[in-house]
Amino acid sequence: MKNRLHIRNFAIIAHIDHGKSTLADRLLELTGLIPERQMREQFLDTMDLERERGITIKAQTVRMTYEAGDGRIYLLNLVDTPGHVDFAYEVSRSLASCEGAVLLVDAAQGVEAQTLANCYMALEAGLQIVPAVNKIDLAVARPEEVAEEVGSLLGIDPERVVRVSAKTGEGVRGLIERVIADIPPPGGDPEQPLRALVFDSYYDKYRGVVCTVRVVEGTLEVGTSIKLMATQKTFSVEEVGVFSPYMTPVDRLVPGEIGYVIAGIKSVQAAKVGDTITSSERPAPQPLAGYREPKQLVFCGLYPLDGDQYPDLRAALEKLSLNDSSFSFEPETSQALGFGFRCGFLGLLHMDILKERISREYGIQLLATAPTVEYRIHMKDGRVLLAKSAAEWRTGPEVDHVEEPVVRATMLGPAWASGALLDLCQQRRGRQVDFRYLSKDRVELVYILPLSEVVFDFNDQLKSRSRGYASLDYEPAGYERAELVKVDILVAGTPVDAFSAIVAKEKAYSYGKRIVEKLKEVVPRQLFDVALQAAVGNRVIARETIKAKRKDVLAKCYGGDVTRKRKLLERQKEGKKRMKMIGQVEIPQEAFTAVMAIDEIKGARQR
Ligand code: GDP
Ligand code: MG
Repeated sequence: MKNRLHIRNFAIIAHIDHGKSTLADRLLELTGLIPERQMREQFLDTMDLERERGITIKAQTVRMTYEAGDGRIYLLNLVDTPGHVDFAYEVSRSLASCEGAVLLVDAAQGVEAQTLANCYMALEAGLQIVPAVNKIDLAVARPEEVAEEVGSLLGIDPERVVRVSAKTGEGVRGLIERVIADIPPPGGDPEQPLRALVFDSYYDKYRGVVCTVRVVEGTLEVGTSIKLMATQKTFSVEEVGVFSPYMTPVDRLVPGEIGYVIAGIKSVQAAKVGDTITSSERPAPQPLAGYREPKQLVFCGLYPLDGDQYPDLRAALEKLSLNDSSFSFEPETSQALGFGFRCGFLGLLHMDILKERISREYGIQLLATAPTVEYRIHMKDGRVLLAKSAAEWRTGPEVDHVEEPVVRATMLGPAWASGALLDLCQQRRGRQVDFRYLSKDRVELVYILPLSEVVFDFNDQLKSRSRGYASLDYEPAGYERAELVKVDILVAGTPVDAFSAIVAKEKAYSYGKRIVEKLKEVVPRQLFDVALQAAVGNRVIARETIKAKRKDVLAKCYGGDVTRKRKLLERQKEGKKRMKMIGQVEIPQEAFTAVMAIDEIKGARQR
């Protein structure tokens, strides 16, 4: 049975917009899987959000058959990997299910940071790379130069770089032939105990969890009693199948095959990405290497704008967690914002997606606090406390020192922008690791940067300083000691917890100043002067005053008709419902949104 199937498993590695989805569309057409008239663009991007933003969030796989030049029929499994730094671990598991990868680079743009990062990941995993330059049909294409760049990156002859246009289809057949010729067929013994890698899973409300798997050894068939080796949970296989492109049941999956398993699993928490499926009757002694628990890097508080929707928000988060094992939530109370949840995410894009799904799919309007990271507070008695919000911060004589998470960031950009990029990294408390020229007009910068600085608007700054040409990728690089303080914001002497933030000591003043200035704009005048203060401990570092209003609201109706007066009062009452009392001061909900919006992270959207 071993050599009956001629299989090739491969992924496409590309920077966003370099044409991965379009190339996948051409492959689906060329292999006759989707007739041309049924083709909609970017077939593999299924979620609305993915299509709108042009990004892939979940791994998608598709199985195609192709008659090659050598006359043999090949089964080609294309694994479409997520294309964002937040999902680097998911990408690594998708790559682990393949023997090779097409490295696709836009002929007008050249290699980008993300491409580089994923390419290194693929090389480390031992994958065979098939390099290709895309969009050769464009007038501004520089295929020779870009092939040169790719060639030097991989240490190969630029002539070996395939030239394609995913749009017109030119060269795509040649690319498939190269995939077949260069990428080795999968191995694996069907008689060994079962080991299958779960590289994606999603929750279907009718069928339960559908796991996308790569069988490495053994055989996976209906009725097999399986065990997930990380969670130690057992299930009975109800259906196995392949995506061609829709779910199609098959009798069994053998080593080298990629397909899906349905086994009455109720939540993706039980079948996480990276876990190994084995047989519970004849378990494998060791799981496949590389399993890791998801790690939340970015946190924020989510509050319903309408406090009555708190139970709905809880229900929405519970539902969403059935389908996403990588975000976390726990109840949190804010005196300013009421009842909500502190949620943890893999990164900013992940956070943005979850927020958007809550409002779109569950109709809940949200107020989100500025994102934070998780600090480690080392106490003198040796305990280490974690703080993922300002409320959890500790100061005082019992605290020995504090550490913050840092990342190793790689930036690629035009040489003319290098001064501005170095300056940005400097401002963001970065430490240079590497700076080199990739070619005479492209530079690579490697920095250790505090994660908190990267989540605050970094990507946006990077783009604006390089007119959109620089790109960023980063990976967690542990923790480093830092001088940090908690800045509190007081309105008429009362601290407003929602505005407190942990910031680098040297940035406390600018943070405090920005917030009080913004508050001055958005908080309406009261009957008395209102002091707005930013403070570190007892020390006030910035202040503004909102002057008392002079006129009564009814003054302009003085002596006027009663109905108008009543209407005005009514309208005021309506407005009051949307007010929060902070001490003696009424703050409209809009003020909170406006102040939080200063910290809005536009960088979360890559495009
Ligand atoms: P992805 O983000 O890597 O999936 O990239 P897409 O497949 O979504 O492509 C990004 C944009 O480039 C889309 O507007 C495509 O139509 C366009 N595109 C992709 N391949 C080609 C090509 O070969 N030639 C031209 N001219 N445009 C292309
Ligand atoms: Mg795409």
